[in-house]
Amino acid sequence: MKIAISACLCGKNVRYDGSNKKDERLLKLLKGHELVLICPETSAGFPIPHEPLEILSGKVFTSSMKDVTDKLIQGSYKCLAQIKDCDMVILKQKSPSCGKGKIYDGSFSGRLIEGNGIFTKMCIDNGYRVFSEEDYECIRKELG
Ligand code: SF4
Repeated sequence: MKIAISACLCGKNVRYDGSNKKDERLLKLLKGHELVLICPETSAGFPIPHEPLEILSGKVFTSSMKDVTDKLIQGSYKCLAQIKDCDMVILKQKSPSCGKGKIYDGSFSGRLIEGNGIFTKMCIDNGYRVFSEEDYECIRKELG
């Protein structure tokens, strides 16, 4: 299978603070499949490191409350073009770009609410099957 995946889950240091969220268990499961690494924030041109981002009322803000919605949408479109032909998409939970079902509430206080990241929503709207790293068992079943 050809699988699009958040680059930070694969150990790339692309998070806002320059770290990664390498998921060894998931990567082991995906061994032998073709992986397409994407990072909407990097594609949007955010430097590493950069201020954390959160979604508030459908718009994306930096922690100093600069509206960067359009920038992140552009980066997400670039990633969407990269994942053509992928059979599934696995994205990093809670991110304002990649979160699936859970995102921070825009107060930069660590509170979570229901919702999807900008890129996640785009993937779903375009008919992709989207999972997060927390959907390990579902992914395992999908891969047979
Ligand atoms: S935008 Fe997505 S891929 Fe990039 S660091 Fe954030 S969660 Fe990871």
